[in-house]
Amino acid sequence: MAAGVAVDTRHWIGGRRVASARTFPDHSPIDSSLLAEVARGGAEEAAAAVTAALAAFPAWAATSREDRARVLHAIADGVEKRIEELAAVETADNGALLRSHLRGVMPRVAQNFRFFADWLLTIDRDDFETRGHSNHISWDPAGVCALITPWNAPLMLATWKIAPALAAGNTVVLKPAEWSPLTASLLADIAAAAGLPAGVLNVVQGYGEEVGAALVSDPRVARIGFTGSVPTARHIAGAAAANLVPVSLELGGKSPLLVFADCDLDLAVELAVEQYDNAGQVCLAGTRLLVESSVAEEFTRRFVARASALRQGDPREEATDIGPNIHPEHLARVDGFVRRALAAGARAVIGGGPHSELGGLYYRPTLLTDVAPDAEIVTEEVFGPVLTLQTFDTEEEAVALANSTRFGLAATVVTSDVARADRVTGQLVAGTVWVNCFFVRDLRAPFGGARQSGVGREGGDWSFDFYCDIKNTVTAP
Ligand code: NAD
Repeated sequence: MAAGVAVDTRHWIGGRRVASARTFPDHSPIDSSLLAEVARGGAEEAAAAVTAALAAFPAWAATSREDRARVLHAIADGVEKRIEELAAVETADNGALLRSHLRGVMPRVAQNFRFFADWLLTIDRDDFETRGHSNHISWDPAGVCALITPWNAPLMLATWKIAPALAAGNTVVLKPAEWSPLTASLLADIAAAAGLPAGVLNVVQGYGEEVGAALVSDPRVARIGFTGSVPTARHIAGAAAANLVPVSLELGGKSPLLVFADCDLDLAVELAVEQYDNAGQVCLAGTRLLVESSVAEEFTRRFVARASALRQGDPREEATDIGPNIHPEHLARVDGFVRRALAAGARAVIGGGPHSELGGLYYRPTLLTDVAPDAEIVTEEVFGPVLTLQTFDTEEEAVALANSTRFGLAATVVTSDVARADRVTGQLVAGTVWVNCFFVRDLRAPFGGARQSGVGREGGDWSFDFYCDIKNTVTAP
């Protein structure tokens, strides 16, 4: 039982629950309580799951698009029926806000299935002719997809990959993150109840270096979809290279939020404070605040007032704005970045350490100034509630600062000058750029990162292009 919900923490392979000889403990970041002992898979379980997925592939691939779409909608119905349970378990497991899970994340999980079910019916293109010969393009399912996902938005990020992979007619082996393994297990139950045939979706649990590494190295896997960190991506890309398997990598970021003096400063402050969402554990977060010098003082004053009003505490409470970070190791990593920055001369305008009263895994929202452009705190992804503030005097300087990173996931520009917005967005290196807004996402849009923020794009057509073998059939007149 986790958060009052029964969760089977064994693997889900070929439509059956499978135990492992070993387990690993899963603790709640809210109060460090033990939520569950979870099956700790290895090479054997990874191989068994791929075998099951391979066996289920021909029949699933042969179903009509309409039939697959129907099953995906039934899964979405199942998610919607269990939103409260899924939200409660996810909050207990990863510490993100219950209210976001209830009203934003879990409805979006259902929407992931509905969207890709419907989009599947739109992917055809008109045939065209070459000297009287017709070209017909088809999107054939590729085979077994190995999907590896992180802990910061576990079910949302997993279903963002599972839904298009299944819709396209593939079978899936999912390996969720070991710090947040529970909702993936519930999804397996929901999918089975919705009529997804045995073996089409499999879930293996365990550590990345064990079951995860075995899964991505299996030569029978046809696609590898990964969301996570750059160091892990290097291992996964290596495994994909060994078997020459297409791989999609959605990785970290160090995104800029540019505040121009001509902007609505209250809007800029709102957008900046939003970067603390999920205790800063958001890949897209605009953690580098780049503010035009002439408004930097006023911006900081208003930011401090607004950020100080944020309520930190138990993520299950409606009034809470910032919950805990995920894990003691992660908190220590976040704090290490901040301590080294302070030792190097940075100044904490707010925060600067763990929350002394709340204790546990709660880290105070932090804003650091007086940071050098090449300081670790400015160049490395912290993945906690930690922002830095740098100033600029010209548009050129702003763009140069924004782009001076090895990442390129997202950027936010706050300005009231439309011409400036056009000029600046045109020069930014990023997969997604927001102007006077943040986190507005449409599943039809391409999503992914430039530079070390990733390889490839997902969303809409891009997902089907990745999860399919695209075939051109040329027929003589
Ligand atoms: P991580 O790379 O440590 O782990 C991600 C997953 O990879 C986990 O399931 C883990 O068990 C598995 N893994 C680890 N080693 C492996 C190996 N050798 N072989 C196979 N699998 C292995 O990342 P994390 O700490 O869980 O997540 C945080 C990171 O994810 C941050 O960098 C964040 O920016 C990034 N992220 C990116 C996006 C995006 O869409 N671009 C979204 C969310 C998170």
